[in-house]
Amino acid sequence: MSDSNSTLHIWLYLHDDVSEMSQITLGDDYLIPLKNELLSFLDLDVKFIIEDTHTPGVTDIDYKVGPEQALVQWRETLQDHGLITWGLHKYLLVTRGDLSFTDKGIAEIEGQVGIASTTSYIAIGHEVGHMLGAVHEDGETFFEGGWWKNSYTNGGYNPLKGNAYRYSDANRENIKRHLARLIGAN
Ligand SMILES: [Zn+2]
Repeated sequence: MSDSNSTLHIWLYLHDDVSEMSQITLGDDYLIPLKNELLSFLDLDVKFIIEDTHTPGVTDIDYKVGPEQALVQWRETLQDHGLITWGLHKYLLVTRGDLSFTDKGIAEIEGQVGIASTTSYIAIGHEVGHMLGAVHEDGETFFEGGWWKNSYTNGGYNPLKGNAYRYSDANRENIKRHLARLIGAN
């Protein structure tokens, strides 16, 4: 199996406004639980590539223009700079702030691009989930350790519920199906 068919590459472009402090916690608090979750049910290696490039015109785009508009702008920015590779590659812009009063992220369902804020520990996993085919309708709430915890890609953010740091069983299946389709098309 070639690397292009056996490794899922998740590119994380850090927006210029992501501070060094949040970069330090990015691995432990956001990415390690997500990587462990993906590895737990996928037959693929999962690689996170952190791009901390401070590239004018790429990592400084204005993402507070409305979530849909910001997503279009992010996709066009990547395309204009020749940064998108087809296949098992997903591209997330990681921001310090929210996209709007109610949006901590946005992504194309089964698409290649998304944006997620570091204001929630699960926004990255939520939007990566969408890019991999997870949908809100298949979200789940688990009762664990005496408390209710939401799966990564649930609809809405309920501050009273904890994070399960996993996808629902149904969304795990959606993700597997999406990746199998991508691998089949390669
Ligand atoms: Zn969502």
